[in-house]
Amino acid sequence: MIGYRVMVIEDQIAKEVRRTGEAPGWGHPAFTDVATSYGPCRLCLRTFETGTDRRILFTYDPFEQLEPFPLPGPIYVRENSCGRHPEHQPMPGELEELPLTFNGYGRGRLLHAQERTTDPLAIETTIQRMLGRPDVDYIHVRNTEAGCYILRIERKDDGTAS
Ligand SMILES: [Zn+2]
Repeated sequence: MIGYRVMVIEDQIAKEVRRTGEAPGWGHPAFTDVATSYGPCRLCLRTFETGTDRRILFTYDPFEQLEPFPLPGPIYVRENSCGRHPEHQPMPGELEELPLTFNGYGRGRLLHAQERTTDPLAIETTIQRMLGRPDVDYIHVRNTEAGCYILRIERKDDGTAS
């Protein structure tokens, strides 16, 4: 078993967009409304209660501080403050139920592997298979239906194993 961390957006990003109503680093207006889809929130990774939870949509670059070339896209966070998902914990079960795309990248933002899951029981083997590849440095997980970025998975000993 390869140990890994589940990395979500920084607390600071969520704080800033909630405070300013603008996408941090981009300055685009953020959009707040009542959830019409499950999300999830990119900070706590909990899915939204449709018709009840309020969410903020904003522009975010999941490659920031990882790669020299940005690739921004839209993501959601809860309007009200929530707890950041701890890196050492696996993905929440409610997230595993979603159709997910796993993109395995090597440094330089080179896409070396791509797999899609709809079965929660397939997720751990998918992650292990990808992290077992020497050409994969980190994994981006996206929502297969919407295409939006959700989180990053990296080896615990990132930098020494590959
Ligand atoms: Zn949240």
